[in-house]
Amino acid sequence: VVEVGALTKSYGPQTVLDGLDLKVREGEVVALLGPSGSGKSTLLRCINHLEDWDDGLVWVGGRRLGFDASGRKLGPRALANERAAIGVGMVFQQFNLFHHLTALENVAGPLRWVHEYSKEDAEKRARELLARVGLSHRADALPRHMSGGQQQRVAIARVLAPSPSVLLLDEPTSALDPELVGEVLEVIRRLAVEDGLTMIISTHQLRFAEEVADRVVFLSRGAIVEEGPAREVLRRPKNPLTAKFLSVMA
Ligand code: ATP
Ligand code: MG
Repeated sequence: VVEVGALTKSYGPQTVLDGLDLKVREGEVVALLGPSGSGKSTLLRCINHLEDWDDGLVWVGGRRLGFDASGRKLGPRALANERAAIGVGMVFQQFNLFHHLTALENVAGPLRWVHEYSKEDAEKRARELLARVGLSHRADALPRHMSGGQQQRVAIARVLAPSPSVLLLDEPTSALDPELVGEVLEVIRRLAVEDGLTMIISTHQLRFAEEVADRVVFLSRGAIVEEGPAREVLRRPKNPLTAKFLSVMA
């Protein structure tokens, strides 16, 4: 469902993605690991088309992102429509909830504004999703009255509401207090295992990656230096950079 080919992006003189290739199959869970600055967030942002790139291609669900049928580059308006249509959802480290809206409104709002649900249908769908992340009882709470773990679960409910075909998660637990990490990982684990959702997740949670990911991809300086089945890469890394990173993390 996702294919990235020779993706290259620079900020000024600095190459952030260096000819990166990645294919993700339907239902596959890929964990992105790598040191700070290796390009994990940039890669995810390119796949979600939140960011433009210099060279290479990104395909999601059979569509080549950012170009119309005749191969011309899309303008900002068309890009926004495309992003809504391609079925990619993204969860951010900092939750990014609407602060003045309740949990229910955070989930229902985008369904109405972007996906043209009626008010009743949007609320019904939002309640289903809040139930799925264990937050039915917090439907009317504002984000500031919820814990970080609850806020991140609302963000996950929101991104799942329009049934994305691919879910991108950028360090979804690194802004959380340690005691709240587990509840969020458990929700993500269920989405992967029970619902078979296709996911690309950047994380520093190695044990979680080993349990949930089908494949681990290790980035260094914008390129993949090692990838393979989670167990293999995490337990017997072949590349010295991977080995060093893992020994520091452990
Ligand atoms: P972390 O683990 O810290 O989140 P990362 O692997 O997600 O790191 P990126 O955020 O993708 O790394 O950043 C890759 C490189 O691109 C870094 O060196 C960063 O400084 C640089 N970078 C990212 N965004 C910008 C920007 N808007 N302008 C200039 N440089 C940027
Ligand atoms: Mg990052």
